[in-house]
Amino acid sequence: MPEHILSGIKAIVAMKLRREGKLQKEIAEYLNTNRAEISHYLQGRHPSKRVLKVSEEILKLPPQYAVMIINSLSNDKEITSRIIKVLYNTRVEVEKDKCIFCGECLECPYKAIERDSSGTVVVNSNRCRVCGRCISLCPTDALKLVFLNNNKLGE
Ligand code: SF4
Ligand code: SF4
Repeated sequence: MPEHILSGIKAIVAMKLRREGKLQKEIAEYLNTNRAEISHYLQGRHPSKRVLKVSEEILKLPPQYAVMIINSLSNDKEITSRIIKVLYNTRVEVEKDKCIFCGECLECPYKAIERDSSGTVVVNSNRCRVCGRCISLCPTDALKLVFLNNNKLGE
């Protein structure tokens, strides 16, 4: 059952990406799966309507709870971060007054954090995969995950 629910969530992501104009091939690559599976999602052949309904209910939860559920379903941080990015338009922000310039967050595995000319750290949202590593490394809680929109399934 957990795999089915994850398929339901992936199907919702696939439909959203398709509405944004992405090709099946691009969606398959993004979700690390094959085009046949994406085709099933987009044509409503898989997963079942019941599974889709449960998945939709999960995505109506406050984002932080939905993210925890998606993470435990996928057990794959990369896929989790990709799903979250599509559903919630998420990004990492720096609270500048909390930053002590320690540089711990520069360990970002995707090189998404840099210093600007004043030494302040800045997050490049295009590179960020929302893996959460910098947030756990920061000693002052200066980094936080921001959900720019609650997931609206119809958008
Ligand atoms: S969340 Fe991950 S990818 Fe994004 S800036 Fe932090 S460490 Fe880098
Ligand atoms: S880890 Fe936190 S305190 Fe250190 S430089 Fe990054 S944002 Fe600033």
